[in-house]
Amino acid sequence: MPILGIDDTDSRSEMCTTYLTIEILKSSNLDLIGYPKLVRLNPNIPLKTRGNAAISLTLGRGEGRSTAIGKIDGEQILSYPRYRNEKMDIDVMSIIERFSPSEKDTNPALIISGEENSENFYWDAVREFVDYRKVLEKAKGDFSSINGQIGIVGANAAISWPRRNTTYELIAYLEKNKWTGRHYVDDSSSMLIERSFPDTFDNFDFKNKYNAIRPTTKTPILFGIRGVDPDRLIQYEGYVKSEPYTSSIIYETNQATDDHLVERSIAESQLYFSAIIRGFVSSEPAWSRGGILGLDVEMNGEKIRAVAMEPTKEFRTLLAKLRRGDEVRVYGGITKIGIINIEKIEVVSVSRVTQIRPPLCHTCKTRMESVGRGGGFRCRKCGTRSKTGEESIEKREIAPGFYEVPIVARRHLARPIKLGIVK
Ligand SMILES: [Zn+2]
Repeated sequence: MPILGIDDTDSRSEMCTTYLTIEILKSSNLDLIGYPKLVRLNPNIPLKTRGNAAISLTLGRGEGRSTAIGKIDGEQILSYPRYRNEKMDIDVMSIIERFSPSEKDTNPALIISGEENSENFYWDAVREFVDYRKVLEKAKGDFSSINGQIGIVGANAAISWPRRNTTYELIAYLEKNKWTGRHYVDDSSSMLIERSFPDTFDNFDFKNKYNAIRPTTKTPILFGIRGVDPDRLIQYEGYVKSEPYTSSIIYETNQATDDHLVERSIAESQLYFSAIIRGFVSSEPAWSRGGILGLDVEMNGEKIRAVAMEPTKEFRTLLAKLRRGDEVRVYGGITKIGIINIEKIEVVSVSRVTQIRPPLCHTCKTRMESVGRGGGFRCRKCGTRSKTGEESIEKREIAPGFYEVPIVARRHLARPIKLGIVK
C-alpha cells in the first residue's frame, strides 16, 4: 500500500511541489485514497524555498463510495475512503526528475512507505530544526533523492502528519507551457469570496489591496482557495473569474492550524524554532530602520526582542500601543538568536501607565511649569511652588485580546484569529 511523501521539488523561481500530484494521478492507474495532503513545514528555516510545502498521497485500489475532489482535463478526480493494497505501478522518481528544476538549492526527495511514520517526525519538522541524518536512520520506507538527502525531512514529515487539526485548499493549475508570464485572476471574485463566505480565509486583504488567492511568483498554480469545508470549496471555485486552467484538486492541509507553535520559555526558544512566549513588555516599543517595530519581552529574568517587520504593515502601529508592564503571549518564529518575529499576539493584560504633569496653581488656575529635574513646579504668574505633580493615567489604546498580522503578511501555517485559537 503505497503512501508517498515528496518534498522540495521547487526552487525560489519555479515549480511547486504540489503540482506533482496532478502528474502522478495522470500516470498511475491506482486510485487516490482520501485527500492528497499538503503539509507545510517550519517556516523559519532559511535554506528552504518559498512555501516549505511537502505532499503526501495514498494510492491503492479504491473501495467504498467515491467523491469527486477535482478534475484533470475535464475528467473528475475521484477519491475513495478505503482501499485494497496494490503495488506502486509507476516510477514516481522519474516524474519528480522530469518536473524539478535542476538547481543546487532544490533537493527533491521521495519516500514510499507501507505505513504512516511516527507523528514525532512531523512535530519536529514543523516546529524545530531537524538533522536529516537522524531521519534517515529512523524513518521506515524506501527513500530516494536527488542532489543530497535533505529533502527526506519534509517527505517523511508529510507521511507522519497526524492531522490533529486540518483545513483544505483547492488549487487550480495551469498547463505547463503557461507557467511563465502573467496570469489573469480577477480581484473582484476574490473579494466576493472573502466577503461572502466566512468558512474561507486569506482570500483578499482589503486594506493592503492584495489578492491572496493568486501567487506572485512563477509557478504552475493559477489560484488557491483555502477553507474549512472541502465540499464547499468546489462551489467557491465556480466564483473565480480567471483565464482557463486544466486541472484543480482539493488538498487536506496543516495550513492555518498553528501546528508550528508551542509554548516555550525564552531559554527554550532556540534559533529557527517556532514558539509562543509569555512575558511582560519590558521596553517601550520603538521603530528602527526599515520600518521595523521592536520591543523587549521579559520573563523570569530572561529577555527576548520581539519584532514586526515592514511587510506586517498596520500590525506594527498596533504593537506600538503596547507599554512597559503589559502582559503578552507572543506567537512567532526565532529567525535570529534573541529575536522573535511576531505573527500573532495575545495581550493578556494592560498595565496602568501613569504620567506626572505640572499641577494647577490654586490661586491663578493656570498650569505651573517644571523647574528642572527634582526642582518641583512653579507658577509663572504668582511664583507659588509645589513639590508634587499631578498624576494622570494614560488612556490605553489597546485592549486585552488577540491581534494578528494582515493577510498580506500571513504565513501558511498561521491560524487566522477568525477560525478560533487552537491553544
Ligand atoms: Zn499662581
